[in-house]
Order: sequence, then structure tokens, then C-alpha cells
Amino acid sequence: MAGYTGKSLRVDLSAREIAVYDTPEVLRTAFLGGRGMGVAMIDDRVTLPCDAPEMPLIFATGPLVGTAAPTSGRMSVLSRSPLTGTVFDCSVGGRFGTEMKKAGFDTIEITGVASGWVLLDIENGSVTLRDASPLAGKGTAGVAQALAGAGSHAAIGQAGENRVKFASIVFDGHYCAGRGGLGAVMGAKRLKAVAIRGSGAVQVADPEGLKTAREAIMRLLRTSPAIFGEFGLSEFGTAALVDLMHARRMEPTDNFRKTFFPGASEYSGYAMRNHFKAKKTGCAGCPVLCKKVGAGGEVIPEYESVSHFGALNGLSDMERIVEANRLCNDYGMDTISAASTIACHNEINEKQLTSDKLLQLLAEIGNANTPLGRALAEGSFRYASSMGRPELSMSVKGLELPAYDPRGAYGMALAYATSNRGGCHLRAYPISHEILRKPVATDRFSFEGKARIVKIAEDLNAVIDSLTACKFVFFAASLEEYAKAVAAVTGNGCDVQSLLKVGERIWNLERELNERNGFTAAHDDLPLRFFTEEGSSSANIRIAPLDRDAFLKARENYYRIRGYHSVNR
Ligand code: SF4
Repeated sequence: MAGYTGKSLRVDLSAREIAVYDTPEVLRTAFLGGRGMGVAMIDDRVTLPCDAPEMPLIFATGPLVGTAAPTSGRMSVLSRSPLTGTVFDCSVGGRFGTEMKKAGFDTIEITGVASGWVLLDIENGSVTLRDASPLAGKGTAGVAQALAGAGSHAAIGQAGENRVKFASIVFDGHYCAGRGGLGAVMGAKRLKAVAIRGSGAVQVADPEGLKTAREAIMRLLRTSPAIFGEFGLSEFGTAALVDLMHARRMEPTDNFRKTFFPGASEYSGYAMRNHFKAKKTGCAGCPVLCKKVGAGGEVIPEYESVSHFGALNGLSDMERIVEANRLCNDYGMDTISAASTIACHNEINEKQLTSDKLLQLLAEIGNANTPLGRALAEGSFRYASSMGRPELSMSVKGLELPAYDPRGAYGMALAYATSNRGGCHLRAYPISHEILRKPVATDRFSFEGKARIVKIAEDLNAVIDSLTACKFVFFAASLEEYAKAVAAVTGNGCDVQSLLKVGERIWNLERELNERNGFTAAHDDLPLRFFTEEGSSSANIRIAPLDRDAFLKARENYYRIRGYHSVNR
């Protein structure tokens, strides 16, 4: 079928066996690609321990990857998370997905454990396992330097080697499969890096139809204030959200004890762009280019990272925040979990962090070379539990919450709780309608109607992650335009409803896989603090504790709309 290569790669690192096989048709028709394909592929092994040799690490592309569809350079990485124990996918940008498609593969599944550190090197149909011992102990920047000229690559740093529970996989030294600790799965396999390059072309069934769909998407992008506006993503990146969350008094501060941080303006998107003279960059096939890099090569952090190294830890020194972000990328660690685990440690030990101490703790975690570093490398929930204070881990299902305080956006509260991969903003992102007023504004301090909106958004985002497109574009375009692009690429008639059905199938399968690992409704909940403590209210904005009964009623509505009865709660 056009839009797919029709071939997948399986690599067993224990036996050093490499097999190329036809991508099963059901993966394409019932699960689209990316996240959907990965979830279906892990189905029969999801209860294995994360470090079991048979546990697969899956790279999967979608039908739009490598085509002219806007934001067609993304892909998914999937396994079971060492941090949460749930099935876990990360959508990642850069150009690895494009190279993978050009090399001829829809998916790559890696199992087994190598006898020493290895590099999986792929050039079109030629697949080689190489000794990577010279790369062992290196950060991801060092690996990027060593692999320059080898196409695109995915690598772990010291954190992945040391099995830090929130280790990430870093692509081309910049783009991260950040959350959930998939870098530790890669580390358990002694796979230091995957390099890939290809020269094939992706077949498109109806090039004219794709051109028309692309033009429609581009028209919507060009006229969107959120994307190409004066203060939009293209100009400032996601750090534009610093000012917005500050003004709404919903920036998590001091481990979520407060929701307002006076020093936030010192590291706003505007301040960082001016200070670092940041330029635009971004993923392959993307016209938005929301990533920002300073004149000296500094990677400007995403909103979540800057806010959590900033407000969540009570720090406002922009240069140190950028350095903390650089360190996390180099060690290969999720910035959200790292910053949140340190904030949890600060609260438990009644410490006020300094920026020097922050950088020191990050190094201890990444290197796992001190008792405290090793304790924090377990993530906030295990750390706080070991200290007898599990309630001070600001996490859902063990995944640390990102930088939107749920007391300031009730749809976000529900979406955090129901998320299949834990405390994540990307499964439904109600911030879109509660704060950004897209596609229409909703009352952020109400649960009314949120259950249905969250359910639809969860299904939609499962589709986006499976195509594999970028969620940011959906601030402007809709699934209507993308359905036309998919139909043109694959030549298979598809529309919004049929795609949403696939999204629902993926979501329900993820939930079922989590149930097999013991997850129940008891895990669809928020930390106690949000129901008992007030945030930082002002004269005009009250950030009240969440009403527990209203939350539970909304969650019950959500289960009813999903059709979840006692068996899958
Ligand atoms: S909008 Fe940003 S994250 Fe999304 S594809 Fe473009 S550059 Fe990548």
C-alpha cells in the first residue's frame, strides 16, 4: 500500500539475528502506524519486566512520514516504561523517521541483550551490528559528534546506560523521546545507538490530492495566531507559554505548593529569544520550526523544562536553566521528571535549591554515582515512597506532572488522571480550549462537558501520534484536512470518523494492556494536594482546591462515555 514501505525489521541482539519481514496488513489497516502499530506489536509481551530480553523496543513511522504533508518528519518509540510500568510511547521529531522510511522500514523492533555495547547501523537494506564500546560512557552530544555523517541517529547517554528510570533517547543530539524512561530499556539491551540512512522514496497514491490537502493545511497554519502570529510558536517556541501560564496563575511552583512564581518573567520565551539571539529550527518536513537554538548553539528549552527548572524549583537564572536542560539532554534524561524529582526532594528535606546544587544533582542522577543520585534516579514516586512521603510525588501512575497546575484547568485535571501513560499533557491537552481557546473556549474552572471533550481529544491524539504528525499543527488545522492528506497518500478512502475509530481502538488497547499490568481506576487519580490545598490566588483569580466530588463525577462520566464498566476500571 502507498504511504508504507511494506517492510519491517526485527533485530535480536542476544542471538545477533536480523530479519526483514512484510509489515502485517492489520498493523496498517487497524492501527495506522507509529504509536498504534507499536501498541499492537507489544501486545503479547507487555507483562514482561522492562529489562527482560524479550521486551521489545519499537521504532515506528506512520503513513505521512517522508511525504509532502506538513510535519511529516515525526515517529514513535514504544516499549513498557520502567518508570510507570504502563505501555509507553513517545512521539519524537527530527529526521530519524524520514530516514527510516527512506531506508525501507515501517517499523524496527529490537529485542535481546547484546554481550557488549553495540551500535545498530542501517543503510537502506543493509543492517549491521557494530562494536560501540568507544561510545560507552559518552553523553549524547559526544555520540552525535562521533556519528556525524552516519545519517540520523538515536542514542542514549550515561543515564540510559545507568538505567535511570526516566532516561530518554536523544535523536541527532537534540530531539528527545523524553518521557517514561525508554532510554533505560535501550540501556538494558546494551544498545548505545541506532544510526540510519536511506535513499528510497515514499510512494504516494495521489500526488495531486496530497498537494491540495497540503495547501489547505498551509493556509490554516499561515493565518493562525497560535502558530505564525506575532507571539506564536514559530517565533518563540513553546516557551511562549511561560507568560501565559504566569498570567493565569497556574505555573507549578515549589513542587506544586504554589501556582505563581514572581521570577518567571526572567526566563520567558521573549527574554530567552532576546538574550540568546535564538533562531528557528525544527523537524524534517515542518514549516513551523518551533525549536529554538541560540547564536552560540544553546538549545532553548521547551516550556515544560524551563518552567520546572524555574518555578517548580524556585530558580529564575535563565542561563542556569538552559544549562540544566543541556545537561539533561547530554546525560539523556527527561527534564520534566528530573526537575520534578528534585523539587520533591527539596520539599521532603525542606531545602531551598540553588542553581549550582541543581546542576550538581542532575550530574549525580545521570552518573548514578552517589547514594542520593541513585535514589533520585528512581523517579519521584519511588524516592518519596522510600522517604515515607509518597503523597509529595506530584505524579500520576508514577509519571511526574508537567507544567500546568490542574487547579487552574479542570479538563487538564481529568486528562492527567485518565492518561494511559500517567501524568502527561499530551494525551488530550485541554489547555488548547481552556487557555488557548482552540477550537473554542471552555470554562477552565468547570468540569462541565469535559469528560466527552477529553475522550475525543484522547482518540484524536492517538491518531495524530499514529500518522505520525505533530500535535502543534492541530492548533490551526483539523483532522478533516489531515484525513484528506492520509487518503491521498495511501489511496485508501478514509475520513475523520474512520480515523477517530482507529484512535479509540488504540486507546482502548492501551488501557487493556495496562489492566494486564494491574492498573485500575484507583490509578486514575491525582495527588492529594490538589484537593486539599489552595494555589496562589490573586484579587481577580481564585485558584481553589479541586472539588473531589466534582472530579469523581467527571471521571465517572468519562468511564460511562468510554463504555468502561466494572471489568476495566
Ligand atoms: S511544530 Fe515543532 S515539534 Fe512540531 S514538527 Fe514542527 S518543529 Fe517539530
